[in-house]
Amino acid sequence: MGDIILEDFFIKRSQQKKKTSPLNYKERFFTLKQGKLSYYDYDLEKGKKKSLKGSVDLEKVKCVENVEPELNAPPERTYPFQVAGSCGTSLQQTLTGDTLWIIYDEGPLYIFAKTEEIRRQWIHVLKQEVKYNKDLLPKYHPCFWVDGVWLCCHQEVKQAMGCMVLETRSTGFSAQVSQRKSRKPLPPTPDQEKNSRPLPLQPLPPEPPQPATSLEMKVIAEYDYVPQSEQDLELKRGEEYTVLAKDSANWWKAKDRYGNEGYIPSNFVSEVQNGLEQFEWYCKNMNRSQAENLLRKENKDGGFLVRDSSKAGKYTVSVFSKGGGDAAPACRHYNICTNQQGQFYLAERHNFDTIPDLIKYHQHNAAGMVSRLKYVVSNKTQNAPSTAGLGYGVWEIDPRHLTCIKDLGCGQFGVVKYGKWQGRHDVAIKMIKEGSMSEDDFIEEAKVMMKLQHTNLVQLYGVCTKQRPIYIVTEFLSNGCLLTYLREVMTPHPIQLLEMCKDVSEGMAYLESLQYLHRDLAARNCLVDGNGTVKVTDFGLSRYVLDDEYTSSEGSKFPVRWSPPEVLLYCKFSSKSDVWAFGVLMWEIYTLGKMPYERLNNTEIVQKLSSGLRLYRPQLANERVYSIMAACWNEKPEDRPPFQELVSIIQDLLYDLQ
Ligand code: ADP
Ligand code: MG
Repeated sequence: MGDIILEDFFIKRSQQKKKTSPLNYKERFFTLKQGKLSYYDYDLEKGKKKSLKGSVDLEKVKCVENVEPELNAPPERTYPFQVAGSCGTSLQQTLTGDTLWIIYDEGPLYIFAKTEEIRRQWIHVLKQEVKYNKDLLPKYHPCFWVDGVWLCCHQEVKQAMGCMVLETRSTGFSAQVSQRKSRKPLPPTPDQEKNSRPLPLQPLPPEPPQPATSLEMKVIAEYDYVPQSEQDLELKRGEEYTVLAKDSANWWKAKDRYGNEGYIPSNFVSEVQNGLEQFEWYCKNMNRSQAENLLRKENKDGGFLVRDSSKAGKYTVSVFSKGGGDAAPACRHYNICTNQQGQFYLAERHNFDTIPDLIKYHQHNAAGMVSRLKYVVSNKTQNAPSTAGLGYGVWEIDPRHLTCIKDLGCGQFGVVKYGKWQGRHDVAIKMIKEGSMSEDDFIEEAKVMMKLQHTNLVQLYGVCTKQRPIYIVTEFLSNGCLLTYLREVMTPHPIQLLEMCKDVSEGMAYLESLQYLHRDLAARNCLVDGNGTVKVTDFGLSRYVLDDEYTSSEGSKFPVRWSPPEVLLYCKFSSKSDVWAFGVLMWEIYTLGKMPYERLNNTEIVQKLSSGLRLYRPQLANERVYSIMAACWNEKPEDRPPFQELVSIIQDLLYDLQ
């Protein structure tokens, strides 16, 4: 059991899981420990906690903020704040034996503090606890969710992205460590002992003035960037830049140290933040299989790198040993653990205040690992990510800048070719067969699609619409279609299969957070890049197909095998119908590309699904993996987990496997 960081009585608002559930307010006793916020029933007479009523895993928290009090709030509800999970939902998991039971705990947790001072202190400490969480929300809802609507923006979807931009503040690792060290609970004052309210308030420093997001943020370039349009600014890896304005999510206006200004792709830089970006050994977006591939390719004894672990906010050291004698070459993965004081350690307990200190020590001492960390292995020079569009503001591409090199395949809209843009950049070019697409509608939508940017989505670069056939130009992925890859290329390793599921779930969680529906998620609509990363493609495209066989649910090309009952019966699409399809896609992954319900025809599938038939457990999937698929196939859409939660379940499972 970790030390208690803070404890207090608060009023807690009921979660209002359904639109019709009553709102009520109960006094609960809250305790904050490292990693967990819990609340209890409290026996005032005996002066002790009775039963645990609920808890929030701090790793899954995406936002901690003030809430505007209600109009005419009673005095005890004047100082509300919120602890929110993924887009307003958080998840609790209970493991019983090998089975994964999932309990959904919807909506932000609303808590009312007694004074402004107490509220400020809790928010301050909670923010410290969660500040290295992955995917902290960039926006939040400043008002309550009441009776099916957000009072701030009047959106009626609980998962709707927040409507208020959060201001970012950067703080370094050492700040985090000193915060953790100072977390000893203070002794109660006599006054508090009397009425069993355990912790006195620690005086807080006044809130520093918060810089607005649009002003002077320092970033470091993680990759070189050669300007693609006249308004772009060149980036040199490792150099510092100042962001002047975030005009759009993907292209920021920035200044280099010589005073040159221009637009830069926001995913090529990272905020000077956890301090790890500057180290050659830190490979941010790399999974276990990719790390192994890279280390084996380098083939150096003691080759190592540090990567983000599959669990949010944690890091893993991957080391290669050439073996020798009887020992075979091997990659080992060591999770960087934290002790109760917030210090970091690896295999044996040598503790350090910062990760760079820990790495420095292990460069000289194996201390329990297969080898000391001898050679830095880095991917940083190789894999620059895709930009959203080929330069700032460019979405109409001049076809004279494209060279077609070879055919990749043929799809619903016609031929797809591999080629180069301006002779340098790999691209895939979809040549849209005339009469196969409702083009004007698509061209309008393409402007929205261009803004979608995520490591696990195939990037749309732009379109050529001034000639016929029109072209859709996207990122090129050298390993092609996932379905073919599974059937022909893969020698399966359980971790690699699960990493593929994680990739897709992350891309889909991004779409879900923007309420963007895919409508045709399946292995045939995923592609694999040179590193084995899976990316989702063709999102939303099915709306522009001109072919009744494809668009009508009775048509022969309709994706019946990937559709839930409510789509087959009432054409009701939602993020939860995408979740169903994701379950089927996981099944395709774990069967290495089998056809779902292979012995049934479409009519039989519709009938049997209604009477409860589901796909069987593939041999390569264990019970835990199968329980994730099965959760996606719940009859009622609301019983299926949202993608945000699927991501964290899969991350936890992967973490347990490393
Ligand atoms: P459509 O969506 O029009 O039916 P597809 O996207 O399925 O067409 O493309 C046909 C084939 O072309 C795919 O199976 C894949 O092998 C190849 N392909 C399509 N897009 C890419 C890409 N971006 N990178 C690499 N290969 C691609
Ligand atoms: Mg396709």
